[in-house]
Amino acid sequence: MAGGRADDEEAAVADCLFCGIVAKEIPATVVGETDLTLAFRDINPQAPTHVLVTTKAHHEDVGSLASADAEALAALLRECRRVAEADGIGDAYRVVFNTGAGAGQSVFHVHAHVLGGRGLGWPPG
Ligand code: 5GP
Ligand code: ZN
Repeated sequence: MAGGRADDEEAAVADCLFCGIVAKEIPATVVGETDLTLAFRDINPQAPTHVLVTTKAHHEDVGSLASADAEALAALLRECRRVAEADGIGDAYRVVFNTGAGAGQSVFHVHAHVLGGRGLGWPPG
């Protein structure tokens, strides 16, 4: 039916930058891929290691993902650790999920920022 939930979802995916990266239509420096996740370096890194870990399926944010697919959420978090270890920062890294525009989320396809390789202040800005 026109204008239904499935149509909204299709429109979100069609417009989504990270769905484009997952589909390999938009280039990215991929550092890891599993059945459920894709990890790639942030185009505007804020630390020596700044990797984004996404789910291949489109979910708007981490809370939506947690409600919809606990297995994919766990896979995403496991991949964060693997990425950090692969970059040699497994003992000191930060995982950030900006949620909502007011908190700095600019791409509305769930992604963890894995940050490290420099001192990380607390509290975060
Ligand atoms: P958010 O602001 O939603 O938490 O994070 C989005 C991140 O995506 C930002 O850190 C931004 O630098 C990154 N980003 C935006 N466009 C691209 C792109 O085309 N390629 C890659 N690799 N990263 C992107
Ligand atoms: Zn998407």
